[in-house]
Amino acid sequence: MPGETRTVDLFDRIGGFLRANRLDPTPVNYDLAYQYFCSDDPVVLAAVDAAIARDGMLRAEIAQEIADSTTNQVSTELVDQLIERAHESMTLAAGLVTQSTADARAYGNALEKGAAAFDAGAEPSSRAIGLLVELTRTMIGKTQDAERRLQEMGTQMVSLKDNLAEAQATAETDPLTGLANRRAFQTRLNAALEQALAEDYPLTVAFCDIDHFKAINDNFGHDTGDRILRLVADALSEGAGEDTCVGRYGGEEFLILFDGIMARRAAMRVDDIRDDLQNRALVSRTTGESLGTVTFSAGVAQLREGEDVAEMLRRADEALYKAKGSGRNRVIIHGEE
Ligand code: GH3
Ligand code: MG
Ligand code: MG
Repeated sequence: MPGETRTVDLFDRIGGFLRANRLDPTPVNYDLAYQYFCSDDPVVLAAVDAAIARDGMLRAEIAQEIADSTTNQVSTELVDQLIERAHESMTLAAGLVTQSTADARAYGNALEKGAAAFDAGAEPSSRAIGLLVELTRTMIGKTQDAERRLQEMGTQMVSLKDNLAEAQATAETDPLTGLANRRAFQTRLNAALEQALAEDYPLTVAFCDIDHFKAINDNFGHDTGDRILRLVADALSEGAGEDTCVGRYGGEEFLILFDGIMARRAAMRVDDIRDDLQNRALVSRTTGESLGTVTFSAGVAQLREGEDVAEMLRRADEALYKAKGSGRNRVIIHGEE
């Protein structure tokens, strides 16, 4: 059967792709391979092809990054729909406002004329009174109608606002850990930099990278790896304290922004989190076996005069590299190692 041939063929291609790139047969990798062969999402195709061209194969962490970026994308269709609906609502609202203004003006004019006739001293005829009553009744009808439509529109706009907020939150959140994703973190960081420069207060970042995370995946499986990622993410969020923002920067890398906080204090907070984590006795949820200790290394850098975000991050990364090189499970401040 042609359908069956296609299925077998696709299955072989996906299997071949995973084997060729030495990717574990995890749901994430299957899904990425499936998208690579079956969907016409140009973002996935281009990202995978670029990675293979650059590295000779699709490395696991790059596959993960691509998968993250696709699952986290709020579809352009959804955004288009929301924009379309916002546009419709605004056009309707604008129309209603124009109409109501015109109605009110016409009513005002008519009333004025009526009042002028009464002022002139002439005994108002029952026909004139009848007309005014009729006019008022029409206006009340129109006002009620406009009120009803405004109320409908208000409800519509509230739901639109909620949908937009939801889409924005999805677009800014890492789905696994619930932390700010790389893009959202960058945005926060840029804004924080601007404010720190304007108001002349310190800004510090910490790059945190889980130690030997690949071994955790290899020894206990990808799901346990994911659980550890969530655990570390929670530990960082809870421990970072006030005036901070924690983001997932890539696979097992996290970034913390310390707003208005100097490197020393930031490093102390990160070190407390590191210490807490290394003292936790973690066990596998499925088998109950010990997962050993989970640790991370971190590099801290405080904004220097005249440097930009990229340079500060590069220095934090350099300090992280030193922390890894000097035994891991430690926090190093750039320039103080
Ligand atoms: P180091 O101490 O030098 O940082 O070693 P490492 O093993 O932590 O670093 P390496 O970069 O070699 O491996 C990172 C691993 O993280 C590889 C990748 O498969 C895994 N990874 C990346 N994202 C995810 C994820 O979302 N879930 C899981 N379970 N693993 C992930
Ligand atoms: Mg890493
Ligand atoms: Mg690591």
